[in-house]
Amino acid sequence: MKFDNIIIGGGLSGLTCGIKLAEQGRKCAIVSSGQSAIHFFSGSFDLLSKVDGKEVKNPLEGMKSLASNHPYQRVGLENISRLVEEAPQLLVRAGLNFAGQADQNHYALTPMGVMKPTWLTIDDFSRFFHNDSFPWKKAAILNFSGFLDFHTLFVQDGLKKFGVETQVKNFAMKEFEAIRRNPSEMRSTNIAKVFDRGIIIDEFAEKVNELSKGFNVVILPSVFGLFNKNVTAEIRAKIDKPVVLVPAIPPSVPGIRSQILLRKRFEELGGTYFLGDNVEGGTIENNKLVAIQTNNHGDIKLEADQFILASGSFYSKGIVATREKLYEPILGLDIDGEVEDSEKWLDEKFFNDQPYMHYGVKTDKQFRAMMNGKPIENLYVAGSVLGGANALKEGSGAGISLLTSLHVAEQLLK
Ligand SMILES: Cc1cc2nc3c(=O)[nH]c(=O)nc-3n(C[C@H](O)[C@H](O)[C@H](O)COP(=O)(O)OP(=O)(O)OC[C@H]3O[C@@H](n4cnc5c(N)ncnc54)[C@H](O)[C@@H]3O)c2cc1C
Repeated sequence: MKFDNIIIGGGLSGLTCGIKLAEQGRKCAIVSSGQSAIHFFSGSFDLLSKVDGKEVKNPLEGMKSLASNHPYQRVGLENISRLVEEAPQLLVRAGLNFAGQADQNHYALTPMGVMKPTWLTIDDFSRFFHNDSFPWKKAAILNFSGFLDFHTLFVQDGLKKFGVETQVKNFAMKEFEAIRRNPSEMRSTNIAKVFDRGIIIDEFAEKVNELSKGFNVVILPSVFGLFNKNVTAEIRAKIDKPVVLVPAIPPSVPGIRSQILLRKRFEELGGTYFLGDNVEGGTIENNKLVAIQTNNHGDIKLEADQFILASGSFYSKGIVATREKLYEPILGLDIDGEVEDSEKWLDEKFFNDQPYMHYGVKTDKQFRAMMNGKPIENLYVAGSVLGGANALKEGSGAGISLLTSLHVAEQLLK
């Protein structure tokens, strides 16, 4: 099977790269072994929240002090300031509405009840502009009886610090009785599926209005709109006060919906998505990747003019570490990091910046993967499989994934 471009990995970076290429008429395939980090999505995409442990208010300014091997520096700050405008527009074309500015972080309320600086927040969630206050004085925190994945007491504790008077109330509805019987079924996705049918929205809104009498705002877990993206807006319209949704424990309903809509957009543009297929190796000839072998395709090789590796970091097994070895498992690409000396992977202080978190596939200036010190001419690298950043420490995960993937797509389209 022959394509113009094959992307290994169907997470945020693989999908957005594939969409950009397919929008320009490229015949693309994405091969993805399984779930991606989007399934754990908090509702916000971070661009840059911290540098050297200090909060960044303006990510575009903050980037200027990042090391020269950081993915943002390698994309180039001029390119970044253009791509931060392009990224949300691409998401809108997929049916995903995000709000935020790259030159001014806003805050999102986390499940721990704290305000976290971030770049883009999906329209399910509220954006806040102060990290030490909350716009309302009296909040009703409502939860479904038996739903253990929304930790109301953390939210209550967090809001108390902002001087908010709160009350937690659990409520039951007969439509949830069937899933409530088994606690492992009472998960956010199953609750969302009940709402997706549309029939209980009026009854739910009435209940919420009743329980929140005397309060200025309603706080609910984010369990709305798995396949039907209009549910959240319908619920908001029927509740007679502002509604603030807080992420529940994953799987994330807005995350799964985002993955579904990105994949749909890619396929509508003519892309081919091979889900549940693991890339096991590739054929390299004259410094070029000619074809990849996958678990499901067996002897049928997948060929392309150019390939993009977007296989994620340790979490998705794009990079693998054992006690002895830290490596890129598909082709054995060069790693940017102290791979030879495992003593240097870790800092003994757990909360310090861990060196291994900066490790990833080594590339040249054009983001082509290095192997034995030489670039593979037609293999590009995007997303969290790249080295040079501790995305967790600096709050830059989605920004790196989105912006490197759009940049790499641009290199391929030149
Ligand atoms: C659990 C988790 C939650 C996060 N939440 C957020 C958040 O809310 N906001 C934020 O800004 N950042 C978050 N991040 C940071 C995150 O890295 C980025 O946001 C981003 O989603 C990563 O996208 P990616 O495409 O680079 O990698 P991934 O999302 O990891 O996707 C890689 C994909 O490649 C596939 N793959 C791997 N190996 C193979 C193979 N051999 N063959 C075929 N397919 C393969 C995997 O199955 C996976 O689907 C989170 C990270 C993690 C780990």
